[in-house]
Amino acid sequence: MAKSSSFFCSACGASFSKWSGRCEGCGEWNTITEDKGLSSGGPAKKSLGMRRGRTIPLTDLATEETPPPRSHSGVGELDRVLGGGLVAASAILVGGDPGIGKSTLLLQAAARFAEAGVKTVYVSGEEASAQVRMRAQRLGLAQAPVKLAAETNLRDILTTLEAERPQLAIIDSIQTMWADHVDSAPGSVSQVRAAAHELTTFAKSNGISIIMVGHVTKEGQIAGPRVVEHMVDTVLYFEGERGHQFRILRAVKNRFGPADEIGVFEMTGAGLSEVINPSALFLSERGQPSPGSVVFAGIEGTRPVLVELQALVAPSPHSQPRRAVVGWDSSRLAMILAVLEARCGIPFAGLDVYLNVAGGMKISEPAADLAVAAALLSAREDTPLPADTAIFGEISLSGALRPAPQTENRLKEAQKLGFTSAIAPGGGKSVSVKGLSQRKVSDLTGFVGEFFGAG
Ligand SMILES: [Zn+2]
Repeated sequence: MAKSSSFFCSACGASFSKWSGRCEGCGEWNTITEDKGLSSGGPAKKSLGMRRGRTIPLTDLATEETPPPRSHSGVGELDRVLGGGLVAASAILVGGDPGIGKSTLLLQAAARFAEAGVKTVYVSGEEASAQVRMRAQRLGLAQAPVKLAAETNLRDILTTLEAERPQLAIIDSIQTMWADHVDSAPGSVSQVRAAAHELTTFAKSNGISIIMVGHVTKEGQIAGPRVVEHMVDTVLYFEGERGHQFRILRAVKNRFGPADEIGVFEMTGAGLSEVINPSALFLSERGQPSPGSVVFAGIEGTRPVLVELQALVAPSPHSQPRRAVVGWDSSRLAMILAVLEARCGIPFAGLDVYLNVAGGMKISEPAADLAVAAALLSAREDTPLPADTAIFGEISLSGALRPAPQTENRLKEAQKLGFTSAIAPGGGKSVSVKGLSQRKVSDLTGFVGEFFGAG
């Protein structure tokens, strides 16, 4: 007899036969909770049997198909992250830390879509309609033709949507939704999954686009958005630091457009406003060239973005020197430090190393390697790099530099923002950009020799 309950990780959704303190799937502590499985019992319990289904039409690869129709909100940064607008009958998950501004963003999006003629319903399971209305007033959106509801019962919500037939429904949040056929508490892994599954299926069969809000949670009792990522078409994360004005909406999965696309917003008194030129914003706080500060010419999704990297290197009072990173990968930092030590003979033992990506931006590109190395060396040697220089390039374990993709876009963006020179890896196709001088370097040792003396 199979047991009806099992154990799920609320952060990543991995399932286990017994409880443990740490999830083997994602490494989080205290996220595993006991939970009833879905009532269907899954494929193991019942096979499809002898009864046949209907025949589905098969088509050739070469069949001409029209692209899916899209609606536009008019908010360029949002439409871009969606892959060029909202696709009809798609399911979208918007995840992010509580309080980061997801509800504000989606209420603004709802208003803009509604004003653009998209029939929109906003269902809040978090707040009463009056609270949502007050927020709309604060944001100057009170006149937008958005229909509101405050409800958590999924059956009632789906019945209402079926009757109202909107083109877009926003569900805030998926963790508050409650499906009465699932025998566990709202927010548990199986409730959140069941609700997301119902909403996604409903979106497909009724031609309604559904945007679900998912809070990233720290406690194990409430399931996070990751447990439903695989069910939806598009997964967006809303990122940003509390103390910063900037918010980044990042597509981590998109069946209808490029993943890794970002939209940049600024939190203002009147809500979120889109940032048309993120590079200018990210560099706006930059002062005179100082040791440890370097500008990286990066690519986010399909567009170039310039960001400032800041490093601080100081003698460590601890037996284990500190390695602290904000906005970049800490194991990648360890790799750069190891290459600098092994290939260039520059040790960081006994030194604390801090690396920060300015503006609350997160970078995942390996092309930032050279900029990171430059920031570390500049901080260690207390020597600023030449002013108005942008840097990029990937470092291999041998210390060789690899050319980065979209070199031309990076260089053009740097030139556009007033940079006069760039340090880039040699090799690959050479691209020249008017008004921008390029220093080509082929390996890290050569770079160290050229910019920091013998090293
Ligand atoms: Zn996990």
